[in-house]
Order: sequence, then C-alpha cells, then structure tokens
Amino acid sequence: MPQRRGSAGRRLIVLGLWLGLVASVLPWWLETPPGSVRGTDAAVLAAGRITGLVAGYLLLLQVLLMSRLPLLERSIGTERLARWHRDLGATVVVAVLAHTALILVGYAALERRSLIDEAGLLLTEYEDMAGAFAAAGIMVALGLLGIRAVRAALPYELWYYLHLSSYAVLLLGFGHQFTHGQQLFRPGPVRAGWLAFYVVVLACLVWGRVVAPLRFNLRHRLRVADVVAESPDVISIYLTGRRLDRLDARGGQFFRWRFLTTGCWWQSHPFSLSAARNGRWLRLTVKVVGAHTADLRDLDPGTRVWAAGPAGTFTAAHRTRQRALLIAGGSGIAPIRALLEELPPGAALIYRARTPADVLLHRELDWLAEARGTDIWYVIGGRDDPGPRQVMSGRGLTQLVPDVARRDVYLCGPPGLIEASTSALRGAGVPRRQIHLATFEL
Ligand SMILES: Cc1cc2nc3c(=O)[nH]c(=O)nc-3n(C[C@H](O)[C@H](O)[C@H](O)COP(=O)(O)OP(=O)(O)OC[C@H]3O[C@@H](n4cnc5c(N)ncnc54)[C@H](O)[C@@H]3O)c2cc1C
Repeated sequence: MPQRRGSAGRRLIVLGLWLGLVASVLPWWLETPPGSVRGTDAAVLAAGRITGLVAGYLLLLQVLLMSRLPLLERSIGTERLARWHRDLGATVVVAVLAHTALILVGYAALERRSLIDEAGLLLTEYEDMAGAFAAAGIMVALGLLGIRAVRAALPYELWYYLHLSSYAVLLLGFGHQFTHGQQLFRPGPVRAGWLAFYVVVLACLVWGRVVAPLRFNLRHRLRVADVVAESPDVISIYLTGRRLDRLDARGGQFFRWRFLTTGCWWQSHPFSLSAARNGRWLRLTVKVVGAHTADLRDLDPGTRVWAAGPAGTFTAAHRTRQRALLIAGGSGIAPIRALLEELPPGAALIYRARTPADVLLHRELDWLAEARGTDIWYVIGGRDDPGPRQVMSGRGLTQLVPDVARRDVYLCGPPGLIEASTSALRGAGVPRRQIHLATFEL
C-alpha cells in the first residue's frame, strides 16, 4: 500500500506552528506574576499586549506561508498553504485591530486622557508609532481586499500587486515592537528570539522567491519551442531547455510561468504540466479565458521563459491506494493527463466535456489508455443533461467503477464539477483523505 507522501511532515510542521504561537505569548505569561493584573485598565492593557504578540507572530507566519519555500510547498502543498493564508487573513486583521484598540483604550484610561488625545500623543511623541498606525491601516485595507467578492471584482494582477503592500506592514510595524513592546524592548533571549524569527522568515522568503527560482532558471534555461492549437480556445505550449532529464517535476504539478515578451514579462501565471517529464520537452495546455492567456497564442518559438516551481501535491506520490480514479472537466484534463502517465496501471478516467469538440488531447488519451491499461469514459453533455447527471451521481460512479471507495480520486475541473463530484464521491463511500483536488485557484 503506498504511503501518502508529506502527511507526517505536514503534521510536524503544523505542530511547530502551534508551538510557535504558544512561544510568542509565553514571555508575557512568564513575566506576569499571578494576581498582578488587577482592575479593568490593567486587564485591557494585558489583553493589548497579548494580542500584540499574537498579531506579530501571525503576521510573520502569513509571510512564511507564502514564502514558496520548497520544504513547505512539498510537505504542505501550495493550494493548502494558500488556503491557510487566506483563512488566517481575517484573524490577523482582527488581532491587529484588537491590539491597537486595547492599547489605546488601556493607556488612555491609565493616564486619564481622551482616546483622541492618547492617539495624538502616541503618534507624535512615541518613536515608531506613526509607522505602526500606518501598518494597521494597510492591514485593514488588505483585509477588505481579501473579501471574496472584492477580490473577484478586481483584475487579478491589480489585486496581487496591492496585496504586496503586506511587506510594508512588516517593515512599518517592525520598529514599535522593539521600542515599546513590554516583552521585547529589553535586550535578552526573548528579544533575540523574536528577531531570530524575523531573520528566519526573511531567509525563507529570499530562498523561496529569489534563490530557488534563480537556480532553477539558470540551470534549465527554458524557451518556447512551439505553440499548437488543440481547439479554437485551447493551446499547448511546448518548451525546451537544458538538463530537462534532471528536472524534478511530477505529473499533476504546476509552475508559475513568466513569458519574457513585451506584453507578458510582468505577469506570472500558474499552469500545470500536461505531459509527464520526458527529458526532452515540457508542455502546458492552456485554455484562453482572458487577456494573458489570449496573448500566449502569439508566443514566438525561442521566447525565453522564467518558471517558478514545481509546486502542488496533486501527484501520484501523494496517493494512499494502489488504484486511482481520475475525473477531469474542460481544461482540467491538463494535469490529469500528465498524472495518468505516472500512476500504476489500472487507473480509470472520467472526462467530462460539454461537446465532442471540447474533448482535448483525445488521441494521446486513447493511446495512454491502451499502453497503461486505463479505462476511459468520455461523458459528453451539459450539466443538466440526464446522461451526465446519472453518471456523475454516487450511484453512477459506483456502477462505472465498483471499487471506487477503495481508490484515490483525483479531481480537476470547474468549481461546479468539483463540488458536485466531491459530494457524489462522498455519497459513494470514498473517504475524504482519498480525494485529491486541483481547483485552479490559489
Ligand atoms: C495551480 C493552478 C494550475 C492551473 N493550471 C492550468 C492549466 O493547466 N491550464 C489552464 O488552462 N489553466 C490553468 N490554471 C488557470 C490559469 O492560471 C488561469 O486561467 C489564467 O491565469 C488566467 O489568466 P488570464 O489573464 O488569461 O485571465 P483572467 O481573466 O485575468 O483571469 C481569470 C481567472 O484566473 C485566475 N488568475 C488570473 N491570473 C492569475 C494568476 N496570475 N495567478 C493565479 N490565478 C490567476 C483568477 O481567478 C481570475 O479570476 C491554473 C490555475 C492554478 C491556480
């Protein structure tokens, strides 16, 4: 029985992150004798200090989660890291706001000043506090940008570049922790530990975002070899490069690709490999959905490509069972096609498409089916057509693949297909840990 890759490492890392949270509040706990927090004002100030420590820790954690450190990406998975980062965002904003409000209210009450006077005093008389207030303001703005509806309304690139201002939050909020933080202003092990955490996060960021991609691209020097139309709105981009036989990427993984042409160099977009590595070329299969993917149709052979990755845990190495069922919809066939090559014989594939013309990579899928003993069902029709609805139900899936509950299931396609198939699979008795999703969403 294959061992699911990364789950032990993931548990260890999660434990480390929780211990980090405990360690961040521990200095306050150790420095505060029992019974010393008396009265409402002292309790408010104590809560302000605790939320400050928690906010400082969570902020660094947020940056760490997005550092693209290969160790984190491999053991936790890019999609899961992005989800944690998204889910944690609201907590960080609440912690920062609570810290600001509690400290303001606490000191105003202690020094018998109005809140406005106290805020004015903090801003003008205390070193680094103006920066801290600016950091809190940016955090709130970022929190608003994180709301799903706001994010969906903005062009992705605009949202992304606005989001980069979170680095300014780190910078602007840095000073006040050490000049005024009750637990941090004194030299000693606590201050040294907090600084060390900053250095570690910064090192991970530089490694994951600069050094690792630089090494990869200097080593492989990728270029576009050809662009081939697969259908009126889908293209395959073939890439060549050096030492591709040593490229450590698995079927089902993706890279963030930057095509170095005048119109494209400033954007990097994630696309999965649509063929397993073969030592000679790489391939991505891209559906044209917007401005950038439309530009990719005109890429010239020879165009240089900057890639960051590989990333993702949608791979054969992460399976828990011997056999697998793959379910693809639309351009979701890209990673599934690559994955199919690396799974043991006996896998099954259900490919959902609206019309026969929407089926991509048909010939090579049929060839793979024969070469690797894979059953393939092309399920054609609209979402509400009775045929596909019946097949994609719990009963239909069990009829097609009777041992589905004992297989890993890899699912990639539009959100509607993923949602409906996941509930059908759960209905068919497939445990959640055996369902692997590639949602094309980070
Ligand atoms: C892990 C992953 C793997 C993917 N693999 C494939 C694939 O193999 N084939 C394929 O056709 N598509 C794939 N996609 C989807 C692809 O990245 C988007 O369709 C593409 O970036 C759209 O860019 P656009 O400017 O043409 O369209 P837009 O209209 O600008 O974007 C359409 C949607 O794509 C998403 N998107 C846009 N830009 C980015 C970005 N830079 N990073 C992340 N998401 C973005 C946003 O949700 C946006 O709403 C994948 C996405 C992810 C997250």
